Amino acid sequence: MERVSQSFLMSEPDKIAYGDSWYAATMAETPPRPPLSLDLDVDVCVIGGGLAGLTAAREIARRGWSVVLLERGRLAQGASGRNIGFVLPGFGADADKLVTRVGFERAKDLWSLAQAGLDYVRRTVASEKAAGIDPQNGWLYVSKKDNSDEFLNYVALLGELGCEIEGWSTEQVRAVLRSERYFYAINYLQALTIHPLNYALALAAAAERDGARLFEDTPALSIDPTGVRKRIVTPGARLRADHVVLCANVELGGLLPRLAATLVPMTSYVITTVPLGENLAETVGYRGGISDSDHADNHYRIVGGDRLMLSGRSTAWARDARHYVGALTGDIKQTYPQLGEVTADYAWNGTLGLTVHRMPQIGELGPGVWLASGFGGHGLNTTAMAGNLIARAMVEGDQTWRSFTPFELVWAGGVCGRAAAQAWVWIRRLRSRIEERRAKARELVQRQARDLEAARVARQAAAEEPMQEAARPAPMAEASVPAVAPPAADLVPIDEPVTSVAAVAAAALPAGRDDEPRQEEGAAQVHGSPAKPRRKKRRSGAKRRAEQGASQDIKP
Ligand SMILES: Cc1cc2nc3c(=O)[nH]c(=O)nc-3n(C[C@H](O)[C@H](O)[C@H](O)COP(=O)(O)OP(=O)(O)OC[C@H]3O[C@@H](n4cnc5c(N)ncnc54)[C@H](O)[C@@H]3O)c2cc1C
Repeated sequence: MERVSQSFLMSEPDKIAYGDSWYAATMAETPPRPPLSLDLDVDVCVIGGGLAGLTAAREIARRGWSVVLLERGRLAQGASGRNIGFVLPGFGADADKLVTRVGFERAKDLWSLAQAGLDYVRRTVASEKAAGIDPQNGWLYVSKKDNSDEFLNYVALLGELGCEIEGWSTEQVRAVLRSERYFYAINYLQALTIHPLNYALALAAAAERDGARLFEDTPALSIDPTGVRKRIVTPGARLRADHVVLCANVELGGLLPRLAATLVPMTSYVITTVPLGENLAETVGYRGGISDSDHADNHYRIVGGDRLMLSGRSTAWARDARHYVGALTGDIKQTYPQLGEVTADYAWNGTLGLTVHRMPQIGELGPGVWLASGFGGHGLNTTAMAGNLIARAMVEGDQTWRSFTPFELVWAGGVCGRAAAQAWVWIRRLRSRIEERRAKARELVQRQARDLEAARVARQAAAEEPMQEAARPAPMAEASVPAVAPPAADLVPIDEPVTSVAAVAAAALPAGRDDEPRQEEGAAQVHGSPAKPRRKKRRSGAKRRAEQGASQDIKP
């Protein structure tokens, strides 16, 4: 998937629709769909050609109903074709908050629906065999904090919700991701990453094969949802349909402003670096998606062999992606300084719709008027889930969508809601930085205590060595040489384990210090105040045991 050949093939409207994205540059060839120019009568009209609309259209068509999908510009030109491409289990709402809200059993049911959405994407990728989707398994959710209790509780909850995961200890994480910023991680075994634009285009082709009719450059200008037949007006034609499915995400404002006001639009920025060579695979040894503990920032993965794609820096008001290139490359440098100066080949943005409760909006608003929206930053599995639930409800009368009725349409606060969302992003980022610094400081103290202990053992062993030598009986052949017997009190039995630990510690110590320059600085401080390190050493010893215990518990 080379940029030059692909972007050469791209038409001017494609460039405008998809932006300067790596996805656009590596987009699979797809036929343009014509605008709607004939009045039509259909069973269902889907508004919005993102992943929600495309999945709904395909699944309704598969069940034999006539479906038309209207897309304002090009298919998947919105968040669906611009996201970082992680197909994850669960929802945008944290699992523990979901349990608090609806109880464990209902939360578990909801998680299994979200899992079905993920499975759907995986199956579709496999069955369509479309070019350029490049699925990679796994999602590693890495913590920059050292709070093992919090981490273990979360791992346990995910397990109870039926999520297939592995807990990784700090050592495991750092062996794979060469960053000292990271502590524990959760490896989500069933997650995958995809090229979302090529996936959406494959889904569009599948929907057409199943009988759906897709129209591009066809905005729905107005909807009359009253009456048995809903009326939809477009620039070139009118439509009448028994059902309408609203999948326009944050752009619903022009059509139904009160509904649009239930979403906070958040824009995220994505870059793809220049090829980084072999150094990248040595530094980032995980091929799936990776996220830091901060929700808003640092979601990344390797694409195109040796490029890094990274997203973050959300804002409540969209800005030009070029403003964030410096901040995003700076984030890479902070995590992986060994990659050196990294430059970006591509930079783009995308806007997602956040609900107040961080759960999607799925259901029938009134007879024949359906909504699939508010997927937030967790839409790749949940749009698939929503499209399937709505198709089943409409055609087969299935009522599973009602599981989402606890998550009502809540006004998102207008401009104040946006300002609050922006403030929340900043607060979270700041909090994450503070927590990270504290965790690193604790780790430093623990390391120093370990080094001091190793040095003490080494010194003790070195002091004991000559005495042990002296205490050894002289060989019989040299009996004529008079042996100088040490005083009885100094006779120390030769203790193999201590001697070998001391030797290992003595050998390891200088290397460890070379690796960690800040350690020396800190160690000097501890040496300067001999009373404190003892207290710290005891505390950190207990903490270390807890950490070791924790990492053994969470090992797969
Ligand atoms: C930068 C970024 C990274 C993300 N990363 C991830 C991730 O890794 N994993 C994950 O699960 N989720 C992620 N998301 C979220 C995910 O992309 C979205 O939740 C999901 O794509 C939403 O799909 P959708 O179909 O609801 O909306 P959209 O993809 O926005 O589609 C809506 C479509 O409706 C069309 N439209 C609007 N108005 C009209 C109209 N009047 N008439 C006709 N058509 C109209 C638009 O042109 C658009 O194509 C990310 C989002 C962003 C922005």
